[in-house]
Amino acid sequence: MNANLYALFSEHFPSDLSQCCIETHDRRYYTWLDVERASAKLANLLCSLDLSPGARIAVQVEKSPEALILYLATLRAGYIFLPLNTAYQHAEITYFIQDAAPEVVVCSPQNFGWVSQIAFQSGSQHVFTLDAPALGNNRGSLLDRATPMSDQFITVQSQADDLAAILYTSGTTGRSKGAMLSHDNLASNAKVLKDAWAWQDGDVLLHALPLFHVHGLFVASHGALLNGSKMIFLPKFDADLVLHYLPQSTVMMGVPTYYVRLLQDDRLNQALCAKVRLFISGSAPLLMETFLDFTQRTGHTILERYGMSETTMLTSNPYTGQRKGGTVGLALPGVQVRVVNSEGVVCSVGEIGDIQVTGPNVFQGYWHMPEKTAEEFTPDGYFRTGDVGKFDSGGYLSIVGRSKDLIISGGYNVYPKEIESVIDEMPEVLESAVIGLPHADFGEAVCAVVVLKNTATLDSATVSARLKSQIANFKVPKQVFFVKELPRNTMGKVQKNILRQQFQN
Ligand code: ATP
Ligand code: MG
Repeated sequence: MNANLYALFSEHFPSDLSQCCIETHDRRYYTWLDVERASAKLANLLCSLDLSPGARIAVQVEKSPEALILYLATLRAGYIFLPLNTAYQHAEITYFIQDAAPEVVVCSPQNFGWVSQIAFQSGSQHVFTLDAPALGNNRGSLLDRATPMSDQFITVQSQADDLAAILYTSGTTGRSKGAMLSHDNLASNAKVLKDAWAWQDGDVLLHALPLFHVHGLFVASHGALLNGSKMIFLPKFDADLVLHYLPQSTVMMGVPTYYVRLLQDDRLNQALCAKVRLFISGSAPLLMETFLDFTQRTGHTILERYGMSETTMLTSNPYTGQRKGGTVGLALPGVQVRVVNSEGVVCSVGEIGDIQVTGPNVFQGYWHMPEKTAEEFTPDGYFRTGDVGKFDSGGYLSIVGRSKDLIISGGYNVYPKEIESVIDEMPEVLESAVIGLPHADFGEAVCAVVVLKNTATLDSATVSARLKSQIANFKVPKQVFFVKELPRNTMGKVQKNILRQQFQN
């Protein structure tokens, strides 16, 4: 048997390959046969480059069907796909290219000049644009070069542990680390999610997520590929486009910000979502208010799930059965999730502790960071996720924050989420972030950064007074700051490190 992930997908392609696999917002249609042939041509081209076994193919391009096809070609040819956030600039690209030492770099035409310079200086042999030619580069794009190649390619034999991708983490808590994921890590998770979310005949996925992150590249695309389902590809989240395509879709995946933005649009209603069977949210916490408002407006209960670059998906609210807002659901089949206290003892129900996981989906380690990898695994082989949470009596996991965001004030542990939830319930408040700031007496002082609803007014004394009647004094923020919006990265994650810097003084 071939453990190559592409081999698994192709077994599940529809028997009629002339069906549509990808439809774009600008009315381009790619059949399954198109995808198979184009990925074969690109795989043939990659093989013609004489790369070393285990070569990394780094790709920083705008989202397109061709970008996904390049990912599939890389799998087929047995190389390692390394997607990079399109927002990354000079300093970041230098770090990633030096760190990962890719043999092939694929970039956008407008960045070709400086990216190729960094790449060649770091020892890359080949730098391409994906489709459009770059100014001053007459060698043609990757697709141009693949045109004369054969459209037949026998997917290479891979072992289960062979690397399929290196995915750099979002860098929310520090410098991004390259998570090495094997063919089997990805395949096992894709199979589990296919059952867990009841992928079925006739499904159409509305794909608005970026392709450089676990959510869009793996969770979303793999779901459709493994089910032989059509994807509607939007270049990015755009409320107009999403509302236009929802009536033709059955599954949508998004980060919480997408749902917040959809709710801000009066056109979102039950009729528009009549065909949709599942809305999924992840990558960042979904506010209870969003969860409730969405149900009220559309009749759909958003299914929240939890995962990360290092592990792909870990827990999910059930497809059938209760989806509990404010929780990330139950451990997925085959994934063991435990919450342990600071002594390493498994916590009782309701007790907060570190989330640790093991399963076939857990990655092979951080690229070029053996010490860091060793540190993040327990002696009995569990991966320390860096997230803090608790289980309820039904086995539903709630995430209360990241261990790096935990505040220790006057010797007490303070979990930001607990305070944020109370602040968020105030009618004037849209959302909040609670952070620890250095404090001479307490070590860290609890501080709140609050975003008010459009026309609302509220002052810090009122916030403090209300909190004092609801939570223990040591948890009440010493200072409350008001801002127009919270800093977020592309995946909708609140960047608390930026808030800590901003309010330090
Ligand atoms: P870095 O590891 O570089 O600091 P990151 O952890 O944000 O960045 P990702 O792997 O993209 O990088 O994100 C995984 C993290 O996202 C999880 O560890 C968790 O903190 C958060 N996350 C994912 N899904 C959810 C969810 N449903 N609710 C709350 N947090 C979530
Ligand atoms: Mg992380």
